[in-house]
Amino acid sequence: MDYLANKYLRPRKIPSTACSGCGLGQVHKKLVMAIDELELGLEDVVWGTGIGCAGRQTYNTWKGDNYAGTHGRVYAISAGLRIALPPDKKIICTVGDGDAFGIGFLNLLHCARRNVDMTVVVCDNLGYMSTGGQYGWTTPLGVKTDSSPYGTYEPNFMQEGQDVLNLLKDAGATYLSRYTSLQGQEVVESMKQAILNKGFSLVHVIYPCVTNFSDRALGTRNPMAMFKWIKERTCSLHDKVPEGLTAFKTGVYLDASNTREEFSEKLRKFTHEIQRRAR
Ligand code: SF4
Repeated sequence: MDYLANKYLRPRKIPSTACSGCGLGQVHKKLVMAIDELELGLEDVVWGTGIGCAGRQTYNTWKGDNYAGTHGRVYAISAGLRIALPPDKKIICTVGDGDAFGIGFLNLLHCARRNVDMTVVVCDNLGYMSTGGQYGWTTPLGVKTDSSPYGTYEPNFMQEGQDVLNLLKDAGATYLSRYTSLQGQEVVESMKQAILNKGFSLVHVIYPCVTNFSDRALGTRNPMAMFKWIKERTCSLHDKVPEGLTAFKTGVYLDASNTREEFSEKLRKFTHEIQRRAR
């Protein structure tokens, strides 16, 4: 990462202040690798962040232009920037699961509906970990957290039959995938495809939180125990999982890249047409 960090990230933000053993850096690194492999420069990318561990650790790390949203609002800001910025500028956001699938979900869904050209990388630590470890929208069933000491009982957005990627697909997203941070180059390749899609792309990456999630759920902060727990629950997108069970189904869920007109392009055409008629 040293070479990439020097090239793309602000020195005062490296090393990150994430807890030792946290998997967030693995996601961050993969995204920077994807940008590098696409031969994008600092001037080509505008980087947005949300709130929580993912937002805090990646906030203002990019040496180029950055912006941050209040909780769940970075998607609305990104849609505005999409209209204001040149079309070839890449808008990339690193956000958490609470930001994307909870508080900001309506904003996210409408960016998918409009097919706004942006790449959202959801760094998922399986709950609200920056606030001490409360359960969230992707916390697997039965898992103990600070707010579910007897185990979670609510349905979640990753369980069979209720996958959040289905909702985003139906809303109109054009690229969707899911991985864990323990996976390698396939995640980088997917991020590259997401960035190249001229439309709404989301890459969902589950990563280990050793401090809060693992401590409550597994009774240990040993990173290896958490890595093993994630690995045991990881399968292919095509595997059948019993109804109600939560598995991390990984792979490219939808690749409809460049098949639907993008929001800002459509808006520009529409505006020109109105101006033409008015002349
Ligand atoms: S609380 Fe968890 S997710 Fe947040 S930085 Fe620490 S290990 Fe990572």
